[in-house]
Amino acid sequence: MMCPGCYKINVEGYCTACRKEMFDGVKVSPILPFKAPALDTIANYQEKTKRLSISGVQLKYSLRLTGKVLELTDTGGQYIIKPIPPGSLLAMPEITPENEHLTMQLARQVFNIKTAANALIYFEDGTPAYITRRFDVKPDGAKYLQEDMAQLSGRSRQTVNQGEDFKYNGTYEEIGALIKQYVAAYTPTLERYFKLVLFNYLFSNGDAHLKNFSLIQTAMGDYTLTPAYDVMCTLLHVPTEADMALDLYNGDHQSTFYEKHGFFGRADFRTFADKLGLQPVRARRLITELLSKRNEVVALIEKSFLPRAIKKDYTQKYLERLARLGMTEQMISEVIDPEHPGVYTAAKQPVTLTFLDRSTKVGFFYRTPESEKLKLKNQYNFVEMRHAKAYKKKPGEELMTIVNGDELLEVAYM
Ligand SMILES: [Zn+2]
Repeated sequence: MMCPGCYKINVEGYCTACRKEMFDGVKVSPILPFKAPALDTIANYQEKTKRLSISGVQLKYSLRLTGKVLELTDTGGQYIIKPIPPGSLLAMPEITPENEHLTMQLARQVFNIKTAANALIYFEDGTPAYITRRFDVKPDGAKYLQEDMAQLSGRSRQTVNQGEDFKYNGTYEEIGALIKQYVAAYTPTLERYFKLVLFNYLFSNGDAHLKNFSLIQTAMGDYTLTPAYDVMCTLLHVPTEADMALDLYNGDHQSTFYEKHGFFGRADFRTFADKLGLQPVRARRLITELLSKRNEVVALIEKSFLPRAIKKDYTQKYLERLARLGMTEQMISEVIDPEHPGVYTAAKQPVTLTFLDRSTKVGFFYRTPESEKLKLKNQYNFVEMRHAKAYKKKPGEELMTIVNGDELLEVAYM
């Protein structure tokens, strides 16, 4: 059996690590001693918003651990469970628990993003639910002060007057400003936040609205960003959803990259990082880190409890987003020479570059005195085949092409 918390194999029920993190070491069964709660009507809620969203239809129930048994509770909840949502508003509602669980596990296991403790759990009849431990509950049952970004920015149903849609007002840049305002050591917090926003884009979470980011008071009395929660590939359930719940920053749809392609690319995230005030060198490192885990991501999706066909779908959606973000120096290097990686490692044959707009170029990467500087912008010196001979005879700038890694879809030998 596989641990329904972390996919560890050869364990009965939850593994020791998950048991510790979720239940303070208590041996809780992954099968709840009751049936899925009778479903309330969601019509009321859905009426208040024009926007179909996961958060609009997912039902949440509170659980409390008494001895070794989890039970439904109205007060003093330590856990939240989300069963399969009712109704047919969503595509594939039956896989929402696995989807959320997998996406949260990807965040923590592959990308080292701090997340709420979470697992899958099953009702008596075998239907799955997503379970997460509340991080705002202290050991003695009292609560840490927590405020979400809608509250901190003064937005509510009343102030925005758009029903539930108030939480889709604002930009991710604005959340960054709130972090700066309220968090004392904000630089590492902004980096964590930036990573999470890019993660959401990479995994097609189009529902990361203002209420899905919160600040929480620590035991020391200061504020910090909470662990990530409510993260999943919403595109599987709401195919018509926008790529992101909020704009990255004001004017993001007028960027050069966005105007050309109709979606965000790496340049947009660099601009976003700039606006957050991250150091360019740190932003580059974070972006590269998020884009270079392809094999680990695919392997974890394979391990997950999703049905086979959905695993394929989930992987496909991830690869499509990954492609939008172009290629990193490392990705290009590994194609040029897997043994001695380097963009400018001498290639025996010409390479074919395919760009996001499906145009192609054939030729060689050539190092010039400018190359080191260009690299910082993810740009590379390249000589097309038709100029190769002339370039060898007499290198000249007019024979050179600058290739933008942000625009690269594929590098391959013919
Ligand atoms: Zn585990």
